[in-house]
Amino acid sequence: MTIIEQYESEVRSYCRRFPAVFTKAKGAVMTDENGHRYIDFFDGAGALNYGHNHPKINRALIDYIESDGIMHGLDLTTEAKKDFIDAFENKILKPRGLDYKLMFCGATGTNSVEAALKLARKVKKRQNILAFSGAFHGMSLGSLAATTEAKARHGAGVPLGNVSFMPFPFGFNESFDTIAYIENVLNDDHSGVDYPAAVIVETVQAEGGICVADIEWLKRLRDLCDRHDMLLICDDIQVGCGRTGNFFSFERAGIVPDMVTLSKSISGSGLPMAMLLLKPEIDVFLPAEHNGTFRGNQLGFVGAKAAVDLVSDTDLLNEVRRKEAMVNDYIDNKILPMDERVSHRGIGLIHGIDLSAFGIDGLADSVAKRCFEKGLIIELAGRKDSVIKLLPPLIIPDDELLQGLDIIAASLAEKLAEI
Ligand code: PLP
Repeated sequence: MTIIEQYESEVRSYCRRFPAVFTKAKGAVMTDENGHRYIDFFDGAGALNYGHNHPKINRALIDYIESDGIMHGLDLTTEAKKDFIDAFENKILKPRGLDYKLMFCGATGTNSVEAALKLARKVKKRQNILAFSGAFHGMSLGSLAATTEAKARHGAGVPLGNVSFMPFPFGFNESFDTIAYIENVLNDDHSGVDYPAAVIVETVQAEGGICVADIEWLKRLRDLCDRHDMLLICDDIQVGCGRTGNFFSFERAGIVPDMVTLSKSISGSGLPMAMLLLKPEIDVFLPAEHNGTFRGNQLGFVGAKAAVDLVSDTDLLNEVRRKEAMVNDYIDNKILPMDERVSHRGIGLIHGIDLSAFGIDGLADSVAKRCFEKGLIIELAGRKDSVIKLLPPLIIPDDELLQGLDIIAASLAEKLAEI
């Protein structure tokens, strides 16, 4: 029995799927205690868009520590916070014509979602929120209420309420007009759905199985929110920070949400940090009405500023689009021809290879396990974990991207040969 099995709670998860003792990581590669290299297509669940130990981000962190920079600052004004806000405002928001205030939350994504839901309820003085089938927004009670996965909801131990789920345009729900359906629910005084304060949406559902909302649908959702006096919250925690080929995932639809949740890769380095972007006119929390000790992760700010510089001063976003074409090409030519039951969805550098049409529980899991044996770290998503989720760091070199894809192709071929 390992020390982990002996002492760490049964709730542990990823370490079961990837049973190695990791010691080092650089770029898109992790190394274990035996010197085995693994290409990382898991990316800290989207927290490492700029790769492991990016030299420029690490340099900024090391310099900050060596200069005795403030390590803990509650929400005091620090140089690190000022510099980050300045960079984010001038290099990310202004060039995109976006006018948001920034609210720093407790350090993880769920804190940002909690803040958004609370604020929406306060602004509109209504309790209900609309979320979508397939949604994942976090594990604390407020965000869990807007999360759909049955196992996660079961863990709550109390009823999860004040959220109504609407159909996301994926699978069966693609067979009808989901926006018209929601509109009908809102107009129908016998729908049974309390009038909502806000709609929370992922433009690309990641945990839900890499379900990409189309541009027209997103535009219609924005319009629906305007016409029905509901706030639109975009949860960009997993697919923001460049993942889709734009800094924000909603940019491709030309819409502007009222609030945007950001976490995971915002700190650039994998350090915990979360924030909420909100339109100035809804900035109505009183001072300290939504508080927390760790809202000012100073190293997070330092890494986040370096990451903003990286996004704005390099060709990173174009590179994501170029690599997207590589992934599409590879999957179209080498993976889809293996079996007509294999399907693919994706955008930017988030892709899913969907094996649900085989109707074999555990098939995607067996492929992911084989990938790990061959040196690729890769996770699953979607209903019954039937989607292999490709989430490489955005900075991954072409050869490592292709090596990772080759491992998926070889592992899938082996597993399909066994069925
Ligand atoms: N929202 C989305 C879209 C996510 O993918 C996640 C985490 O995977 C969260 C919220 C919750 O973030 P955290 O795990 O940091 O609380």
